[in-house]
Amino acid sequence: MTMNKDGFKTQIKACDTHSLAEAVAYLHAGRAVALPTETVYGLAADATSSSAVAEIYRAKNRPSFNPLIVHVADQSAAAGIGYFSQKAEKLAQHFWPGPLSMVVPLTDQGKAAMSPAVTAGLETIALRCPAHPVMRAVLEQSALPLAAPSANMSGAISPTEAQHVADSLGGRVALVLDGGACQQGLESTIISVDDDGWRILRPGPITREEISALLGDEEKPDPNADPDTVISPGQLASHYAPSKTLRCNALDPQADEWLIGFGEIEGDDNLSPTSDLAEAAANLYAALHRADASSKARIAIVPIPLTGIGIAINDRLKRAAH
Ligand code: AMP
Ligand code: MG
Repeated sequence: MTMNKDGFKTQIKACDTHSLAEAVAYLHAGRAVALPTETVYGLAADATSSSAVAEIYRAKNRPSFNPLIVHVADQSAAAGIGYFSQKAEKLAQHFWPGPLSMVVPLTDQGKAAMSPAVTAGLETIALRCPAHPVMRAVLEQSALPLAAPSANMSGAISPTEAQHVADSLGGRVALVLDGGACQQGLESTIISVDDDGWRILRPGPITREEISALLGDEEKPDPNADPDTVISPGQLASHYAPSKTLRCNALDPQADEWLIGFGEIEGDDNLSPTSDLAEAAANLYAALHRADASSKARIAIVPIPLTGIGIAINDRLKRAAH
């Protein structure tokens, strides 16, 4: 149990019917709770309540211009909040429940129901139907749409274990449901999609190739190439950062560097001795947490291949090193 100076307690509880009911009670009371998803641990709160959403921003010290992803139990709950074009519907049918967040226009109903803080005032909303059984049980039992960013202080390494949450948010969240280590270990793929086409806003476990194969067309040109259009305000250059300096693509570790290896390059730690990128993604944040806690002053990581989920791993590493 972690307690801050005001005596606010953070309890980690194993997932059972009792702790699930307690989490749901917190959510109905407009409070935030931390819980596992298939990507990383999330800090969830009722997306329709501005005070509940404010608790997320406050606990994480997250800038208010950075909108939240809203998690729903199924496609019909999503359709009440956002407009699903044919392409969006096809994506939802194929990839939900799963690690795909879709940015779609808000419907009038969605706009009336959601706290404006969730979308940071945008006319669009990011929606995801997660696969993790604990998150699904909480969504179904609470019958609430849940805003849920990663359960860590803004800008820091994401949590993939319950203890990571307590280490980062101890004293700032009352309850952490422990569902073990997260299977994917990297945040969801975020895609903006409407009738015209689609564009990946953040690479993740579902790759561009999979999406292109399903929709049968190519990604739209980069809207960020036009400096007047900011469609994904939260994609900060520095994010997911350890407290120590991180050096990427390192093949020559210095004496004061903790080396994170991959494949045959052993290192002090290794993301996947068999060069399996899915395994590396699942291990990435835990390895960064261990490196941060190690006796070495700095961190270095070997090159990670830029294919499949390796693209998302490299995206996170670039921001973590910024
Ligand atoms: P996370 O911090 O992992 O919860 O991811 C949230 C990210 O989703 C934000 O930082 C934004 O980049 C993106 N996002 C959420 N809502 C929107 C939206 N309406 N339009 C564009 N991007 C969004
Ligand atoms: Mg995050």
